[in-house]
Amino acid sequence: MALLQISEPGQSLDPHQRRVAVGIDLGTTHSLVAAVRHGVAECLPSADGRVLLPSVVRYLVSSQGGSGRQIGYEALASQVQDPANTISSVKRLMGRSLAQVVDAGKLSYEVVESQGMAVVKTIAGSKTPMEVSAEILATLRFRAEDSFDDELFGAVITVPAYFDDAQRQSTKDAAQLAGINVLRLINEPTAAAIAYGLDNGSEGIYAIYDLGGGTFDISILRLTKGVFEVMATGGDSALGGDDYDQALAAWVLAQQGLPSEHTASERAALHAEARRCKEALSASDGVVEFVVSLGGQSVRQPINQVDFEACTAALTARTLIAVRKVLRDAGISKTEVQGVVMVGGSTRMPVIRQAVGGYFSQDLLTNLNPDEVVALGAAIQANALAGNSRDGEELLLLDVIPLSLGIETMGGLVERIVPRNSAIPTALAQDFTTYQDGQTALALHVVQGERDLVADCRSLARFELRGIPPMAAGAARIRVTFTVDADGVLSVSAKEQGSGVEARVDVKPAYGLSDEQIAAMLQESFTTAQQDMAARALVESRVDADRMVVATRSALQADGALLAPEELSAIEIQIAQVQLSAQGDSATDIEAATAALGKGTEAFAAMRMNHGIKKALSGKKLEEV
Ligand code: ADP
Ligand code: MG
Repeated sequence: MALLQISEPGQSLDPHQRRVAVGIDLGTTHSLVAAVRHGVAECLPSADGRVLLPSVVRYLVSSQGGSGRQIGYEALASQVQDPANTISSVKRLMGRSLAQVVDAGKLSYEVVESQGMAVVKTIAGSKTPMEVSAEILATLRFRAEDSFDDELFGAVITVPAYFDDAQRQSTKDAAQLAGINVLRLINEPTAAAIAYGLDNGSEGIYAIYDLGGGTFDISILRLTKGVFEVMATGGDSALGGDDYDQALAAWVLAQQGLPSEHTASERAALHAEARRCKEALSASDGVVEFVVSLGGQSVRQPINQVDFEACTAALTARTLIAVRKVLRDAGISKTEVQGVVMVGGSTRMPVIRQAVGGYFSQDLLTNLNPDEVVALGAAIQANALAGNSRDGEELLLLDVIPLSLGIETMGGLVERIVPRNSAIPTALAQDFTTYQDGQTALALHVVQGERDLVADCRSLARFELRGIPPMAAGAARIRVTFTVDADGVLSVSAKEQGSGVEARVDVKPAYGLSDEQIAAMLQESFTTAQQDMAARALVESRVDADRMVVATRSALQADGALLAPEELSAIEIQIAQVQLSAQGDSATDIEAATAALGKGTEAFAAMRMNHGIKKALSGKKLEEV
């Protein structure tokens, strides 16, 4: 039976005037498309009724030599069988060089570097992350067009708050490749706030805790009468549900006394089974059995909540460390947070809800589906931007830039012009002068980052201001203006005030740029990023090493008596090795020593558990570390 839909007079636009505008959550793990229909935002299902599209693309070569691909569930299902050509988590590679990809070795497919960019090697040739993402975006575009039986006018696409310029540009390029007109890129947590803000209409300071498959974002937002202001953003771009899967799989292997090295397809099977068990544990208080076949041998391991909590406590603690930092950045205390919005599939885990609820001492906002909330908010924003809103009600959206922007000055130092966490759109200016008599040109170098040395920041662009009238050194007044538009697109201009000569550069222009220009710009942007990454990797590895030593020491103090003297001294030697390596400059060495200590203490950890002292390893204790 067909039902005719009737809308109230004045409530909806003439269907021919309505523009189909959608919100797309291009996730690491899942992607979704949503639209406002009859005044309500809803996720659009595929023909078989599912709203989630796994962000997975498998490349095939047919026997005739032609090539094809599978996208979404179909591709996901072939991951175990064909890991090398099945591309998942491609979002981790977007706009990155190989050195910048965290945990590239953990991916089941081969990533190589081409022209300074990470690309994926497949049976159908090498594919850029942009191309892989475009396959996912095009699938969602067709889904929307089928569902409205109309062409898509445009889309709002969400990106993690952590995404830098190159990553945002890659996302836009992927959309362009998929034939999608990008109305705006917005941060995922901001989209979630839109979904909740409009539903609740409540004002105040909110924290958005988004733990997805591959990224963790934490944002502090202030909501006042339909205006969303992002006070600060932070998080960890390499922490998500995938890491919980890895931790669980590693724990199972350790329990079974099995080696941690496996073939790509065994790794994929271990990961898939760990994920299944993790998700099953979210819905059950009982025991879940991990079953996998390794080297023809069947492995079975029962897992309960306490085991799961113990082997993932360090990950949960890391999210809370980032929460503390972002509260500091926002200049507020946790008691000022009036509500905590939970976003991302991983926030279904009881361990997360307990830890976050406990930290903020309050109930969490979980009434919208955590998988869908980002896409729903993006759909509301898209609808407003396309001019479909009923009462012309404008949604004013303030966003922030994630990293400071500045210019190189004498001695390779950075003069910060737009500080981190400034609300956008924004325009800020600063005056500079010449340093030589008769100087007629000035070289400008635009950089991004929080460090004081240009070498430690990321190079975004270089340009020159020419035609300055010859003057004595210090007499010229050159005003450099940084403008960041609502998409986060930066343009920098330099103008000599006396003569009016001007030069400008768009660092992240929307369209009209040739692919070569984009590639050249991206190339340029990677020149210093690698050092920065290396320096950061070193610092991070030292922090991890230190944390590991402290944790081991306290475990030894509590339960060292369980160990035989030679076991104890073996661990002491490993601790000494970690400390020695931490004095050196090699992140790889420090990580290796830390990992060795982790392995060396696995048996000890198991012993402690068997002695009924699981409490010592529980979330609370590790958070305090
Ligand atoms: P992303 O934004 O990275 O695409 P999602 O928000 O879709 O990620 O979250 C995907 C992650 O959520 C995966 O790691 C998945 O295992 C996890 N997840 C989904 N449902 C559950 C559940 N019921 N319990 C625990 N984790 C879950
Ligand atoms: Mg997400």
